Amino acid sequence: MTLVLNSISKIYQDGMSEFKALDNVSLEVKPGEFLAIVGPSGSGKSTMLSIAGGLLTPTTGDVLLDGENMASLSKKQLTAKRLESIGFVFQAANLIPYLKVKDQLQVINVISGNKADSYGAELLEHFGLENRMANYPNELSGGERQRVAIARALINDPKLILADEPTASLDSKRGRQVVELLANEMKARGKAGIMVTHDENVLDLCDRVVTIRDGKLEE
Ligand code: ADP
Repeated sequence: MTLVLNSISKIYQDGMSEFKALDNVSLEVKPGEFLAIVGPSGSGKSTMLSIAGGLLTPTTGDVLLDGENMASLSKKQLTAKRLESIGFVFQAANLIPYLKVKDQLQVINVISGNKADSYGAELLEHFGLENRMANYPNELSGGERQRVAIARALINDPKLILADEPTASLDSKRGRQVVELLANEMKARGKAGIMVTHDENVLDLCDRVVTIRDGKLEE
């Protein structure tokens, strides 16, 4: 999938005052391309990722997914599009405490109406979790939990992956392993991806790095 952000600005209203979190940001991510976004805290990275994923609407500018303008979709269509096309990975794994590993993935299959679940088993094996299928999240290490979260984001084969500091809860070795697995899977399946990160240790796993500072993009 090709993701285009076209002259995106975002202004947050806070009572009487306004804050410009993004200032005329444009970028394109092509199928198979993995883009890293770095920048100081408060520079607008999460805002940009939320806008790219249709979780937040820009004040001005357009988001295009394979040429389709997200603003042209109804709320219902947008939700369907998100479920079908976008995989989200967050800082913390956010697994459901009372579900076993294999059921964490199955739940997405059920919600998205995805019939084939053989990919789930394949993913868990790729990610070295084949012996963890019957375990609950509290029985896993931090790295294992994050690998389950990534497998869950990939299970319905979304064409766009959006990751917000996926290594934040991991030591540098585990963090790198997790991003490596994600990058390999994305390459193998021609997915486009954006990862917001503070972790210099994983930047070489990305194709391109852009810096955002005070809401403005610097390549
Ligand atoms: P980053 O992810 O780079 O830390 P964010 O995108 O979270 O940056 O935030 C960018 C700026 O916008 C920050 O100054 C933050 O305080 C502000 N901001 C974020 N969300 C809101 C909101 N809902 N209302 C008002 N200001 C916000």
